[in-house]
Amino acid sequence: MIPRKSRPGSPANCPPNASPWSRNRGYRERGTRLIRQGRKPLVDLVAPVVLALVLGLSASGCTAAPTIASPDGRAEPALSASPAAASPDSSPTQALTASPSVSPAPSAPPTSAASASPKPAETPKPAAKPLAGRVIVVDPGHNKLYNSANRKKVPAGNGKKKPCNSSGTATNDGWPEHTFNWLQAQELRSELESLGAKVVLTRKNDSGQGPCVNVRAQTANDNKADLLISIHADGSYSKGARGFHVILSTTMAGGSKVEKTSRKLAENARAAIEKLTDMPRSTYIGKGTALSPRSDIATLNLSKSPGIMMEMGNMRNAKDVKLLRSKTFRKEVAQALAQAAVKTLG
Ligand SMILES: [Zn+2]
Repeated sequence: MIPRKSRPGSPANCPPNASPWSRNRGYRERGTRLIRQGRKPLVDLVAPVVLALVLGLSASGCTAAPTIASPDGRAEPALSASPAAASPDSSPTQALTASPSVSPAPSAPPTSAASASPKPAETPKPAAKPLAGRVIVVDPGHNKLYNSANRKKVPAGNGKKKPCNSSGTATNDGWPEHTFNWLQAQELRSELESLGAKVVLTRKNDSGQGPCVNVRAQTANDNKADLLISIHADGSYSKGARGFHVILSTTMAGGSKVEKTSRKLAENARAAIEKLTDMPRSTYIGKGTALSPRSDIATLNLSKSPGIMMEMGNMRNAKDVKLLRSKTFRKEVAQALAQAAVKTLG
C-alpha cells in the first residue's frame, strides 16, 4: 500500500508553532482581509511587503521561517520561530537567502533519462526464410560412368530389384542427361538454400560413378528429408514429342500420407513451371496432365519422404534442348521448384 502523501502547505500538516500567523492575530486578520478584499490599504506601505513574504513562506510549505526581516531591517518577531531571527543585523536579503523556503532546492539527482547512455537503435529482425529448418534432398539423376557396376541389381521397392542405375539419355549431338541433371541440381540447390533450406545432394560431382538408385532414396531417409526432388530429362524419339512431366510413385515406403504430399508437390511444381518457364506440359506422357504415376521407380518407391521425379524436357526434341541448355531456363526451373517446395511445406 502506498502511503497517501501530504499536500505541501496544508494546515493539517503543519505543527501549530510553525505557522507564521500563529503568534500575531492582528496580522492574520489584516492579511485575511487584504486577501478577501483584493485591495491594498494606502496607509500601510509595509504590510503588503510583509504579506507577500508571508504568503511566499506559507505557500512553500509548513517549515517555519527562521528569519524574516521587515522592510526596514527589523526582524518581525511575529513571523520568526527563532529568537535568533530577530537579530537587527539581519537584512532582508540575508533573511530571504537563509530561509529554507526560498533557498534553492537541492539539486535533483540526475534522472535515469538524463544519465542513461543513449539507447542503441533496434535493428529490425530479418524476416524468417520460408524454408528455414527444412531439409531437402536434391537428386541429380544418373552418373557419368556407366559400367558393369551399374548393372548390379539393387532393391527397387515392393520386394523387386532392378539395376543400380541406367546410363540416362542424351541430346542428338551427345550432350548427356547426367550433365543437365547436375547443372539443374546446382541451380536448385542455390535457390533452396537462399530460402533457408538445408540441401543434400545425392552425388558429389558429375564425374564419377555415383550412387545406385536405392541409395538415393536412402539419402532422403537418412536425412529425414522434408522433400526429395529428383532431376532428370527424358529421351523420346516419338515425332513432335516434347515438354516436361512429373513422375509420382504409387507405392512409397512412407505410405499414403507421403504419397499424398508427393502429389501435392507434383501439382505445385507443374503449376510453377508452367508459370515461370517456357517449357510446355508433355505432349506424350500423362495425357495432358504432365503427371505420370508409376510403381517401378526405386528412388521414389523406397523413400519415406515426399518426393517427385522431374523429367524436365525431351532431350531428343530441338526446342526442348534449346531450353535445357539455357542457364536462364535452369534458373527459372529452380525458382519454380523452390516455390513449389515452399507451397507444399506451407
Ligand atoms: Zn533420367
